[in-house]
Amino acid sequence: MALIVQKFGGSSVKDAEQINNVAEIVTSAYRAGNRVVAVVSAQGDTTDELEAQGLAINPSPSKREMDMLLSAGEQISAALLAMAIEELGCPVVSLLGWQAGFETTSTHGEARIRRVRVERILKELDQRRIVVVTGFQGVDRYGDMTTLGRGGSDTSAVAIAAALKADLCQFYKDVDGVYTADPRKVPGARKLDFISYDEMLELATLGAQVLHNRAVEMAKKYNIRLEMLSSLTRTRGTIVKGERKMEEMLLSGVTKDDNTARISVIGVPDRPGMAFKIFSTLAAKGINVDVILQSIGRNGTKDISFTVPSPKMEEAVALIEEQRENWGVTDIISDEDVAKVSIVGAGMETHPGVAAEMFEALFSQNINIRMISTSEIKITVLLDKADGDRAVKAIHDKFFGDV
Ligand code: ADP
Ligand code: ASP
Ligand code: MG
Repeated sequence: MALIVQKFGGSSVKDAEQINNVAEIVTSAYRAGNRVVAVVSAQGDTTDELEAQGLAINPSPSKREMDMLLSAGEQISAALLAMAIEELGCPVVSLLGWQAGFETTSTHGEARIRRVRVERILKELDQRRIVVVTGFQGVDRYGDMTTLGRGGSDTSAVAIAAALKADLCQFYKDVDGVYTADPRKVPGARKLDFISYDEMLELATLGAQVLHNRAVEMAKKYNIRLEMLSSLTRTRGTIVKGERKMEEMLLSGVTKDDNTARISVIGVPDRPGMAFKIFSTLAAKGINVDVILQSIGRNGTKDISFTVPSPKMEEAVALIEEQRENWGVTDIISDEDVAKVSIVGAGMETHPGVAAEMFEALFSQNINIRMISTSEIKITVLLDKADGDRAVKAIHDKFFGDV
């Protein structure tokens, strides 16, 4: 008998038919003798719709109230799925985040899980009940509802799997696995049988929203085996685990992130400590900086460019602007018309030609590269937003085109 956590995304619970289908999946795992926890997202586009409803009433509501509103979506799916499971004749109980023991920080809208107190879930499982838990939400130490950030129910599922030491955490999505590129945008994309945590983490962080990156981070930390599959096709999906087998692919995928902005700080005094000042100011406000480029100093000054997530651009510019005179910086330029395109693969370390081939693919499409950043398992380039899709296709064709 195994303990399985099954997570169902918004598209898998979008209507009654889908919910009944999910109930079949959950109950067949249960009837096979497993202990089953199902984690659900809000139905279809419910979270977007709730947000729009809130913003129509108040364009800048407090984050606490936004969390109260958004967390309602998951409550509906959890209750409906529990009812569908009852209808199939299995014992079941649905739990909200706080009932399931999700304790989080108080950062409304992007709360972090402190711990999951699983006593209640365990008690229910011991009674041989299926437990349905709302993803995406928790409670802070003041007893207030919090949410984990968009896409966060993947992280809820892994957190439960870790706390319960589950044997497997399955993700049912509208795609049947992790592909070499977003299969909706790149028709030739191929499904991977296996991918390592590190590669999945890079893919997720660099724009493949197929799994929330915090979920992958946690799975790696607690060594939770993940399986991505579809609630419709029931074919074999993709396994995310510690190591890849030697004979597997050199590269695992190409991704694009449009949600990025470039900031250039011009005329920074060329002396020690300036990069520290700029980046520590941003870090203190929780702004993540990614690709960084610093020019060679000339006439006593240099330029520092970097990328931040688009929604953080204005705040980042304002923070630097506040210190501009103090630091002796000449100018700050920002640009949202950029996209980050990356290639990810654990085999890259030992194959030095990958970067050159990637740049050749871009050159063949006459696409200009604005910034480059590399690590052992990824190469990222910053491009004009308008070139993004063409770039992904050209790079994908180059590396994955001919089987
Ligand atoms: P969920 O319904 O569980 O929240 P998401 O919508 O967040 O699922 O994630 C699934 C989507 O991720 C797919 O519809 C697909 O378009 C997209 N996606 C992006 N990159 C990839 C990739 N490399 N492999 C598979 N899917 C991808
Ligand atoms: N319902 C939330 C969202 O749409 C959480 C999730 O689905 O992962 O972002
Ligand atoms: Mg998602």
